[in-house]
Amino acid sequence: MNHPTPKATSRQWRGVIREYADRLDVTDATPVVTLGEGGTPLLPAPALSRRTGADVWVKYEGMNPTGSFKDRGMTMAVTKAVERGAKVVICASTGNTSASAAAYATHAGIKAAVLVPEGKIAMGKLSQAIAHNGELIQVQGNFDDCLDIARDLAENYAVHLVNSVNNDRIEGQKTAAFEIVEAHGDAPDFHFIPVGNAGNYTAYTRGYREDLAAGNSTRIPRMFGFQASGSAPIVRGEPVRNPETIASAIRIGNPASWELALAARDETDGYFGAIEDDKILEAQRILSAEVGIFVEPASAISVAGLLERAEAGAIPAGARVVLTVTGHGLKDPQWALRTADGSDVQPTVVPVDTAQIAAVLGLTS
Ligand SMILES: *Cc1c(COP(=O)(O)O)cnc(C)c1O
Repeated sequence: MNHPTPKATSRQWRGVIREYADRLDVTDATPVVTLGEGGTPLLPAPALSRRTGADVWVKYEGMNPTGSFKDRGMTMAVTKAVERGAKVVICASTGNTSASAAAYATHAGIKAAVLVPEGKIAMGKLSQAIAHNGELIQVQGNFDDCLDIARDLAENYAVHLVNSVNNDRIEGQKTAAFEIVEAHGDAPDFHFIPVGNAGNYTAYTRGYREDLAAGNSTRIPRMFGFQASGSAPIVRGEPVRNPETIASAIRIGNPASWELALAARDETDGYFGAIEDDKILEAQRILSAEVGIFVEPASAISVAGLLERAEAGAIPAGARVVLTVTGHGLKDPQWALRTADGSDVQPTVVPVDTAQIAAVLGLTS
């Protein structure tokens, strides 16, 4: 690429590859494809600390360029694909991977083909993939079918797979753990994270493991991963043929990184749990209304998982807890308008009249 490389002294975050070049498989000659991903906020969540007695922090991955953590992996996957001469990348996606692949591919001047399950993609994600000039194919099947076909195509045709079965994705995503250790000076006691294909669960464990080995931290957190009850193959111990949940980003019946995730759980004294959809929506509301962080339903399962585990007495008072919230609420905003009885919130309508509006707001002069 003929772009000038920003100086290390620049106050602008340079994306995860340049920030962590010494900890990723890149050289000075690597054609870095970045949209400035990573460097996301790690925010205290006093409302959640009060509810649980733990010291709770939120890693806000919705703040990445396309609104999800997928960008951390995609910068690496597309960079390495370009380095290897790829002209087309392909992925299966529940939505966010397609948005990210399309953005990074078009930035690199190559093509992204994305396979998504027909009718199962949140509107925000679908529009992103199209806006970024992705070759979007709706498959009349579920995510697992899409991944099978994407793998098939990558094996037999001139396209490069950028799903999280691609190790470059996991490598890029491990940088989120580096950022947490840097911010706190050590790893947390517990890390809570949504689980779909379990690539991110695997990536954080790798990042924490590498930080420990490098002497940057004194521990690896217990990795607590959560699946939606209608889509919980790892918790059940068998694939789910027709996974169902409103948390579309984790509607996955046969996780690609299943074996790696089980190994990571055993290594970290971790845990996998299942959460009902109504608890996911409740947690989404708590996070948006009490903490000020708006996430899509799949991301809120980290919060729901924490509340459930704290209730079960599994989280000691004062324990340092980090929750990854994986994607922005604007991706799939309809759920925020839904009330408990299933109808939509109706904002109050008033005439152009100050006194009436003051009365509606309960203001006194
Ligand atoms: C992809 C995704 C997940 C699941 O991540 P895996 O690595 O597949 O386990 C969770 N939440 C959001 C918002 C995602 O886009």
